[in-house]
Amino acid sequence: MGHYRSEKDFLQALKRFNAISSKKYAWHTGISEKEHACAFGHSISPDTLFFKKPMDLEGENTIRVCRECMEKLVFITVDSDAHAREITDRLYHQSNPPSPKLLDMQRH
Ligand SMILES: [Zn+2]
Repeated sequence: MGHYRSEKDFLQALKRFNAISSKKYAWHTGISEKEHACAFGHSISPDTLFFKKPMDLEGENTIRVCRECMEKLVFITVDSDAHAREITDRLYHQSNPPSPKLLDMQRH
């Protein structure tokens, strides 16, 4: 694995990466059923984790990237320095406030 120690760390970083753009255009995880092409020229083998997002409102065009490329994009954007990490963490928490139920549980 490249930039992240675990898949969990990476997927958490991906949430911060998504926090800097509209939810309509968030990156989603997928498991490939057939071979796909990564936008950066790699091939995505069947049954592997990859990442996709819509390129238009109708969802007719989708961009797909392989895991290695997504890790690179995420790492460079949100984790290559402490400032970026802090800002994206704040944006993530702003757009995903804890649910009232959870807050309630913490109070008791
Ligand atoms: Zn790739």
